[in-house]
Amino acid sequence: MAGIYIHIPYCKSKCIYCDFYSTPQVATMEQYVHSLLGEANLRQEEIAHSPITTLYMGGGTPSVLAVELVTELVNGLHEVFDLSRLEEFTIEVNPDDVSSKYITALRELGINRVSMGVQSFNDNELRAINRRHTSRQAIDAVRAIQDAGIGNVSIDLIYGLPGQSLDSWKNNVEQAISLNVRHISAYCLSYERGTRLWVMREQGKVQEASDELCVAMHNTLVSKLRQAGFEHYEISNFAKPGYRSRHNSSYWNFTPYLGLGAAAHSFDGTNRRFNPSSIKQYIKALSENRTVFTIEELEWWERHDEEVMVRLRTSDGLDTTVIAKHYGNNASDTLLRKAQPFINQGLLNLNGTTLTLTPAGVMMSDHIIRTLMWD
Ligand code: SF4
Repeated sequence: MAGIYIHIPYCKSKCIYCDFYSTPQVATMEQYVHSLLGEANLRQEEIAHSPITTLYMGGGTPSVLAVELVTELVNGLHEVFDLSRLEEFTIEVNPDDVSSKYITALRELGINRVSMGVQSFNDNELRAINRRHTSRQAIDAVRAIQDAGIGNVSIDLIYGLPGQSLDSWKNNVEQAISLNVRHISAYCLSYERGTRLWVMREQGKVQEASDELCVAMHNTLVSKLRQAGFEHYEISNFAKPGYRSRHNSSYWNFTPYLGLGAAAHSFDGTNRRFNPSSIKQYIKALSENRTVFTIEELEWWERHDEEVMVRLRTSDGLDTTVIAKHYGNNASDTLLRKAQPFINQGLLNLNGTTLTLTPAGVMMSDHIIRTLMWD
C-alpha cells in the first residue's frame, strides 16, 4: 500500500493562526499544476512497487483551483500512476468555494471524500481568526456536498478560540453532529511563532484559553461525539464506524507516501524527502525537468521516537512487539520500563503487549510521549 499527497499552496487570505505554507498569489496556479505533473512523472518510480490506495489533495486550499485545473491535474495523475486500486480520494475545501456544480465535477473525477475547514459555527469566532466564511456558508456547503453524492464528509474544528466559552464550544460540537458528517478532526488552538495570532498575544490583544478550559472542551468533545456514535481513533480524530481517514491512518502506520508540490514531504519507509517551501523555486526546478527535494536520513532512534509518538496517539496503540521487531528487544524493554510509572498512575494501559493512552493519559499525552522517547 502507498499514498500520494498533493500540496496546493494557495489561500485567498491568511487565517491568523496558520503557519502552513500558502500564498494568495494565485497567478501561478496553472504553471504550478503543470509542475506537479512534471514532478509526478519524474518521481513515479518511488512508489512503483506498491499499489496506490489513497490520494489526498491538501493545502493551502485546493478548492481555489478551478474545475478545469483540477480536471487537468487528476487526468494527468491517471496517466502517470496506476490508480485502479484507489480506495480513498480526498480533497480539502473551504466552505466559500463550494457549489453543487463544483462538487459534482469533483465527484465525477473520482473524488469520494471531502475534508472541509469549518473551525467554528459561530460567526464572531470565525471573524476573530480571520476565516473568510460564515457559519451559514459552512452548513450550506456540507449539505451541498452531501446532496451532490459525496457522503464521506469530514470537518475540522478548533477549540480554545479567542473569547470562546464552553457553552459556545458545546453548540459547535452539537451543530457538527447534526450535519451527519462522517469524520471530525478537532484541535486545540495552538499559538505558533511567526503567525499573526502569536503577535496579537504578545501585544495583549488576545488571551490564550486556560488549560482547564481546554481540558473541559476536550472532554465535552469526546463525550458528545462518543454518544453520537463516533469512534475516537486518534487523539484529534473521530469517525463513524468505517469512516476513519485511510490516508491519515497510513501516516500513523508508517506506510510509504509520495508528496508532490511545494512544501510537500515524502516517506519511503525509511527516510523523508522534503520539497522547498517556495512556489517560485519549485516551478523553476520543474521547468528544468529536475526534482527539488532534500533527503533527511533518519537515525534509528529518530524513527523509533516518531513511531512511538504516532502510534501512541491512536486508539490502536503502540504494540511493543513492533518496537522490538523494528529496533530490537532492548528498545522495547526500555520502553516498557519508562511506561511503567504511567501504567501505575492510570495514564497508560498495557493490554497484552500493547500500550494505549487512557482518557486521563490523553490529556497529558505530550508529556508521556516525550518521556517515552529514546533519550
Ligand atoms: S485556509 Fe487553511 S491553509 Fe489557508 S490560511 Fe487558513 S488555515 Fe491556513
